[in-house]
Amino acid sequence: MEFNKAHNITGLRVLNDNVIWLWEKDKSVVVIDPSVHEPVISYIDENNLNLKAILQTHHHSDHIGGTKNLIERWPDVKVIASSKEKKRIPLQNISVDDGEILNVLGEKVEIIEVLGHTNSHISFFVNGNNPVLFIGDTLFSGGCGRIFEGTYKQMYTSLERIKLLPKNTLIYCAHEYTKANLLWALKLKPRDQDIKNKLLQVEEKLSINELTIPFLLDEEMKINLFLRAKNLEEFAFLRANKDLWV
Ligand code: ZN
Ligand code: FE
Repeated sequence: MEFNKAHNITGLRVLNDNVIWLWEKDKSVVVIDPSVHEPVISYIDENNLNLKAILQTHHHSDHIGGTKNLIERWPDVKVIASSKEKKRIPLQNISVDDGEILNVLGEKVEIIEVLGHTNSHISFFVNGNNPVLFIGDTLFSGGCGRIFEGTYKQMYTSLERIKLLPKNTLIYCAHEYTKANLLWALKLKPRDQDIKNKLLQVEEKLSINELTIPFLLDEEMKINLFLRAKNLEEFAFLRANKDLWV
């Protein structure tokens, strides 16, 4: 388990490569995609916090697996998820749609639908001076989510939409896949200096047990081949190539 404290957002590394994010303000906390419950409860208890909300980006079990037990412990918790997923995220009690704006911990949070990984994947954009995006399994550092239910076009459109956010947006994804993604990218672009430099930074962080997430949108646009793709065809080629690589 690892912690990475920045901007009052802490990452708990769980399972093989999942990261559960906890966003704190005063003594309140919001958890994003709790795959499991024990480490979340321990963290909240150790820090004397009160769980206010659970944000769910999509229905996969490594994102909602801990929700039931958290509700048992905090029965008033708000569980925010896509209104399209009432069956597959049945414990939701606040159902949201694309473009909706919520107030979470006193901040404006906009729902941005990012289809491709699933048919209803959403992200949570905290729109302040230091913007933050909880992106789930749509974008990873150096990579993007697998297309399980959507189309190449949907995923490409989702990434294009992310690219329009403020360049200083800090992005929090749900898996620590960065190193493997960069090794794949270097196979395709062996002389790319930006990617090489990023790999060095990432290896250094991993060697001292730090997370390589969050990452800045601005920097990510320089090293992520999926964000650099100039058109749908190039994106589809990359995604298919990556599917075969892992
Ligand atoms: Zn997923
Ligand atoms: Fe996942």
